[in-house]
Amino acid sequence: MEDSYRHKGLRKKLIAELAEKGITDKNVLEAMGRVPRHFFLSSAFLEFAYENKAFQIGAGQTISAPYTVAIQSQLLQVEKGMKVLEIGTGSGYQTAVLCELGAKVYSIERQKLLHDNAKKVLDKMGFRPHLVYGDGYKGLPSFAPFDRVIITCAVPVIPDELLIQMKSDGKLIMPFGEGEVQEMMVVQESSTGEFVSEIHGKFSFVPMLEKRNSNH
Ligand code: SAH
Repeated sequence: MEDSYRHKGLRKKLIAELAEKGITDKNVLEAMGRVPRHFFLSSAFLEFAYENKAFQIGAGQTISAPYTVAIQSQLLQVEKGMKVLEIGTGSGYQTAVLCELGAKVYSIERQKLLHDNAKKVLDKMGFRPHLVYGDGYKGLPSFAPFDRVIITCAVPVIPDELLIQMKSDGKLIMPFGEGEVQEMMVVQESSTGEFVSEIHGKFSFVPMLEKRNSNH
């Protein structure tokens, strides 16, 4: 795993592109500027690691496009030391960005292969998130409550279990919808105790599925 001047240069260009596309949170831009995205793609795709594109990472899943990671991270408004629950570790790239933002990250992945790969790469990079091979619909009750919850797969129904595991001043960010295209939704509790949601643009994620899968 080498982070060459060329990679650093390409990454700088990508961060400038994200800023141009409307990402304004300096912490997010800087954190993404520090995390080598090419470490999360197989070496055959090194050339594409710094393009604003999603990519296949095995087990029929994709690493989210950099703009998608940036938007979700920006909406999350992470502060140092916050406990963040991520559903869908995938490649581990979003996990690394959350760690770099200073969060204590708990991340669940239902595909054994991806969980194992993400563990290896994050460990090599010196990140220490709590990674779990499990079903994100269940959350992690023994580590709750969480300040923030981020779901990186398309959610057909809001998982009540995850709302229960969120602090009362917490936020849940997820692509919500059943079809090919979903809406990025932020859910939080109002001062009167009801859950309210806001929509932030359309995205396309792989679906959130139930139960663990070890068939790869
Ligand atoms: N943030 C990741 C996105 C990966 S794609 C990245 O940038 O690489 C979404 C991931 O969610 C897939 O790896 C998929 O296996 C996982 N997933 C889908 N349903 C899940 C569930 N119920 N629990 C945990 N992970 C799930």
